[in-house]
Amino acid sequence: MNSPPPNVLRLYNSMSRSVEELRPRTPGAVTMYHCGPTVYSSPHIGNFRSFLFADVLRRFVEDRGYRVTQVMNVTDVGHLTLDDIEGGEDKMEAASRKTGLTAWDIAKKYEAEFHDCQKTLHVRLPHHMPRATDFIAQMGSIIDDLLRKGVAYQVNGNVYFEVAKFPAYGKLSGKVLDELEAGARVAVNDEKKDPRDFALWKVDAKHQMQWDAPFRGGARGFPGWHIECSAMSMHYLGPEIDVHTGGEDNMFPHHECEIAQTEAHTGKRFVGLWMHARHLLVDGKKMSKSLGNFFTVADVLGKGYSGLELRYALIRVQYRQSLNFTLSGLDEARSAIGRVQQCRQRLVRLRDGLERAGTADMAAAAAKADAAFTAAMCDDLNVSEALAAVFEFVGVCNRETPSVAGARTALATFARFEDVLGCFGPEPAADATNEAPAELLALLEQRKAAKRAKDWALADTLRDRIAAAGWRIVDAPTGARLEKA
Ligand SMILES: [Zn+2]
Repeated sequence: MNSPPPNVLRLYNSMSRSVEELRPRTPGAVTMYHCGPTVYSSPHIGNFRSFLFADVLRRFVEDRGYRVTQVMNVTDVGHLTLDDIEGGEDKMEAASRKTGLTAWDIAKKYEAEFHDCQKTLHVRLPHHMPRATDFIAQMGSIIDDLLRKGVAYQVNGNVYFEVAKFPAYGKLSGKVLDELEAGARVAVNDEKKDPRDFALWKVDAKHQMQWDAPFRGGARGFPGWHIECSAMSMHYLGPEIDVHTGGEDNMFPHHECEIAQTEAHTGKRFVGLWMHARHLLVDGKKMSKSLGNFFTVADVLGKGYSGLELRYALIRVQYRQSLNFTLSGLDEARSAIGRVQQCRQRLVRLRDGLERAGTADMAAAAAKADAAFTAAMCDDLNVSEALAAVFEFVGVCNRETPSVAGARTALATFARFEDVLGCFGPEPAADATNEAPAELLALLEQRKAAKRAKDWALADTLRDRIAAAGWRIVDAPTGARLEKA
């Protein structure tokens, strides 16, 4: 078999279970939908493996010359605490019960925290980040249509999608009814015609977030989780989208249900390419609060690491491979970023005449590094291979003495790597004496996080630690930076 050309972007499609060339419906433009956060608690680093994968995907698709439109939803209602079957309590309501805040306040607080984390982790902002609670009407019109078509039914005000009416149900995950029944952990819901049927609309007088039914003949209630993604993706991207991503645990039942209700509604194929990131392991185990290996983004910053270091540690392995996160992995990230930045800094000095330039034009080495990087990323976003190409290029640059033009060529290559991976930081300044050491920059990041969390005592302690090292914080419109005191 001929191997595909190295610069054709090939991605693993969970639906076909094979690697496929990205073929957008409109030439030159790619639409992407990402299942976003459920905003009921502080985002943990496992969530961000999946979100950072989506960010790297978007960046590389843009690098390939496509115009990307990216939508990521914010789930602020309807996500029940037992994902695998219809059951449990709404996550927002459960958090409200535990904290005493209203469900609306919980959503507001953690949505803001999520946006902060995205900034800290250098995520390129999706073009649209709609909230589920702003799309109740759009969900209603889909429910209305499904009821009219007879693929959904209403019992005691609850509306269920009738899975038996959609024979392709299970095509993504391969899950069948027997497995679902065997795995069921709650009592069978007698209202449903079939245990596989899932809720589109629920009625519960105790629920804080409720709306008059946005469809004909309905009762006051709130939407199910799955229907929100169908409504929001369709609103921004139309009935058919090119790429849909999520974490591997979203595949069933969430994505299976999205497919059923969307395709029953539109009669069209919902998604061209389904992509799923593997969940993150921490110290070799699935992250859980009871095992003590549970880290929020703020926890990691609190240990003195920067957003860039955490980003590097979470993207350095291809999204489908298992990635074991450890604190020593963050130390490795720090030294890897340092190596790249030191190399770039020397190139800046050569380019700017602060160091005597040599004769190497770097053209062949840069072209080779670019090609290796592209081939790795085209191979289903193989970030670890792409990083190997980056570090090989660092080695070549460090061995050579580039000319002024050669330094410029090499810097342009690093700028492209940074544009795609976003984990090294901007081009460093020529003069090292004006650059604060990485440890102090990490303290500055922590202080920013502390200020956002309104932890003034911690913010002051961090400022004092920075001052003790001989630096001071300058608050500028572009954000705080460090200057020698
Ligand atoms: Zn979703």
